[in-house]
Amino acid sequence: MLSTIHIISGATLGVLATGSGELFFWSVILHFVLDIVPHNDFSFARSRKYFIWASIDMLLGLLLAFYLVGDRIDYMVILGIGFSILPDIVNFVIMAGRISPLKFYVNWHRGIQNRKKDWWGYLTGLIVIGICIYALVA
Ligand SMILES: [Zn+2]
Repeated sequence: MLSTIHIISGATLGVLATGSGELFFWSVILHFVLDIVPHNDFSFARSRKYFIWASIDMLLGLLLAFYLVGDRIDYMVILGIGFSILPDIVNFVIMAGRISPLKFYVNWHRGIQNRKKDWWGYLTGLIVIGICIYALVA
């Protein structure tokens, strides 16, 4: 799933959660659930184009999340965002650091991705954003 979707869902959980332990649990679980849901995003291929798009994706996610959360932004929102992208950060650290004993995690994380390379692959991301907006407004 795009980082934008993970970041917005994490910020939403940051508003809704009552404690950091609960926030960590649900943010990480939701990350993997969103990876399993059929979606369209970039591949893990290490290329210049990938890093540019991934950076835009992150920046867009942060801007949208801060806009949607508005004046409710606090350390829980920041924690929620961090916890929600943590599984991808761990992935990146293992790959960049070539930490072979933990390669099983990268393989498992890749294996659960349910990519649909059609326009409707973006629809699930839009639905998640819609649910987050509803949760933040309600
Ligand atoms: Zn992931």
